[in-house]
This record gives sequence, structure tokens and C-alpha cells, in this order.
Amino acid sequence: MIVELENVEKHYQGVHALQKLNLTLKQGDVLGLFGHNGAGKTTTIKLILGLIQASSGQVRVFGKDPMGDNAHNLRRQLGFLQENVSFYQQMTGAEVLNYFAKLKGCSKIQTTALLEQVGLSHVAKRRVKTYSKGMRQRLGLAQALLGQPKLLLLDEPTVGLDPIATHGFYQSIANLKEHGSTIILCSHVLAGVEKYIDRALILGQGQLLAEGQLSELSQQTGLPVVVHLKGANLQLPDHLHADATWVNNGVQLRVSQQEKMTLLQQIMAISGLEDINIQMPTLEDIYTHYTNQLQYAEIN
Ligand code: ATP
Repeated sequence: MIVELENVEKHYQGVHALQKLNLTLKQGDVLGLFGHNGAGKTTTIKLILGLIQASSGQVRVFGKDPMGDNAHNLRRQLGFLQENVSFYQQMTGAEVLNYFAKLKGCSKIQTTALLEQVGLSHVAKRRVKTYSKGMRQRLGLAQALLGQPKLLLLDEPTVGLDPIATHGFYQSIANLKEHGSTIILCSHVLAGVEKYIDRALILGQGQLLAEGQLSELSQQTGLPVVVHLKGANLQLPDHLHADATWVNNGVQLRVSQQEKMTLLQQIMAISGLEDINIQMPTLEDIYTHYTNQLQYAEIN
């Protein structure tokens, strides 16, 4: 296993930042770590990085204690991009990256390729203080990717990136996964992430609200599939009227995920049908479902 958390708890004076968290990640897994502000995401990342000690429970990274005697060797295999990354303002982008390469014990050769990969070659010789927010974020990504880390932890990696850079970033994630890296991606921006993660872990007030593949979580929520039938003169059979909402140029049907295929077979025969659009529950829907449950539990 690459990461193992077993009944991990973290308390700061009076604050239960994490409670009984269990997690295992194997090689090549890409995990999306989600939760509201203060849910415990950064605490989880810091525990895995060996920056803080768990109050109880066990943290294992590559089978070892990330705060143990050989932690410096272990850290060479890690890549980390923190939220709101900041660098030495007077250094150029290339100098910053070379400096981190030296600290990490990796060759300088790859820094040029990494700057190219994140689209910073043309400003590599400019001082960081002249960089835009997005450029700094790209430099942060390049730093995190140094040495092809076996485990990559990314806190809000796409903040400040434009759509093309965001796409480029997800491409890098896909490439790293293909080369066997394990990735934890922590983000409040849910749209667009789902294609790139294998599993999601949703935290709420330091507790695990849900964990699993998106398809499993989607099933567990019981959220409906919304099928939009387009057609100005749709002849909807009587038995479908109960689940139907008439909208502009058509009708919307809400069905359970299990009933989706049966419904699709039925609607193919509907007269006046011009087009069909099927909307599965999104990551945002799944996230809202689990975090709403938390609010409901608080009220009661
Ligand atoms: P955000 O999305 O806002 O970054 P997060 O999910 O990363 O939030 P954490 O930073 O892990 O949340 O914080 C979890 C809880 O632990 C919060 O209640 C926070 O106030 C508390 N906390 C974090 N660090 C400390 C600290 N050093 N001392 C005291 N409390 C802390």
C-alpha cells in the first residue's frame, strides 16, 4: 500500500480536526479529497506528509511512519503543492525550480522540461515577483512534479489557472497516474475533477462522510437520473406523467439509477421525440447530498 491511515485522530487544543479516519491508497490511485472549510483536508495531507503527528491511530506511507527516522528518504518520493503557494520573489522561475531540484536531490536537466510542460519556458528567466497568480501556481506545480514523485499531494492545484492550463494540469495528472504515481487531489472546485479521479473521500467536521468510486457513491445517494425529452408535440404515455415536469420544448423525467435503462427503452417508442439528454448525478450533486446530511444531523 502507498498510504494507510488506520483510525487516525488529530486533536488541536480543543478542536477535533480528524476523527477515526481510515484510508488506503494503492499504486496508481487518484483520490479526490473534498470537504467544507475546516473539514480536515489539510490536516489529512499534513499527516501523510509527516509534518504533524497523529493524536492516535496509525499513519503509514510506503509502509513506513512518515515521521520516523528515515522520513527524509521517504519525502524524496513525495511531491506536494500547498494552497496559496509562494516563492522567493527575487529569484527567476528557473532559479526557483533549480533550487528545489537541488533540495530534493534530483537532476537539473528535468527543470527545463518541467517549465516547458507547465507553459513557463518563455518567462523562465523572469523574476517570480513579475509573475501573475496563475504563473506562480504553474511554477508550484512544476516544483511538485520534480523527480516524478510516487505520491503526489495537491492542495487546490487549479486555483488561479486558466481553462487551458487547467486542462494541461489534468493531462499531467493522467500521465503521472499512467506512470504509476498515486495522487491525492484536494479541491473545492468540483466541476471537471470527476473524469480524473478514481475515488472520492468526503470529509465533514473531521469525520468521513463518504468514500468510494464515484459510481458507487452515486448509487448510494439514491439521487435520480434526469432524462430530458425534447419535442414540441411529445405524446407521453400516461404511466410516465407522474414523474414528468413539462419544460420548454419538452419534458423532464426523474428516475432512479436502476430504472434508467427500462425508461430509455420505453421512451424510444414515444411519438414526437426529437432528442434525449441524460443527466447523471454529478460530483457536485453527490458532495451536496453528503454535506447536507451533516447539516441535517447538526439540526437534529
Ligand atoms: P480549508 O478548506 O479551509 O483549507 P481544511 O479542510 O483543510 O479547510 P484543516 O486546515 O484541516 O481544514 O482544519 C481542520 C480543523 O482543524 C479546523 O477546525 C481548523 O481550525 C483546525 N486547525 C487546523 N490547524 C490548527 C492548528 N494548528 N491549531 C488549532 N486548530 C487547527
